[in-house]
Amino acid sequence: MTPKYQSKPGIVSRNEWGAKPANSSGTTRTSTGKIVIHHCATDNATVDNLSESELMRIHQINHLNRPNYSDIAYHFAIGKNGTIFEGRREAARSYASNSNATAFDQDAIHIMIMGNYDERTMTSTQSKKLEDLIAWLCYKYNIDLNIKGHRDNPSSSSNHCPGSFNYAAIPSIIVTIAERVYGILIS
Ligand SMILES: [Zn+2]
Repeated sequence: MTPKYQSKPGIVSRNEWGAKPANSSGTTRTSTGKIVIHHCATDNATVDNLSESELMRIHQINHLNRPNYSDIAYHFAIGKNGTIFEGRREAARSYASNSNATAFDQDAIHIMIMGNYDERTMTSTQSKKLEDLIAWLCYKYNIDLNIKGHRDNPSSSSNHCPGSFNYAAIPSIIVTIAERVYGILIS
């Protein structure tokens, strides 16, 4: 399928949110064929009390302190207000470990939605920004419609990520992307 042009959405850079340097640049992906959606599962009251940038810094520090995580786990994140954030190096492999990446992770771009989506749904602004980001990534990498949730990873099938509500939203995201990026109507 040939993707239609999609403009790059506004993305808050690492400098703008106050990222620390990565522990390493990580391993570069050899191919890009999948988008994987996550939530951070942080308590929503905490999410609502912190700024989106503060949450980015908290997640990055948490991940920098984990063995094998070279940087924040995700390539992109979307905050409670729908702001899109730059995460780890876009060309780097895997959301977590560079050496222990599962086959599922190796060709994936990982997007995290801040909050716990077992307990609430995305706002319309968050949904729109997520679609803008996925549309641009599908155009840039010609990913087709390979849009998954973290729990689709066979090695993390007991994981609730990206939250039940976000997971349930993936089929409608695919319908939207199919029409917007590939001109395909899925009924
Ligand atoms: Zn996840």
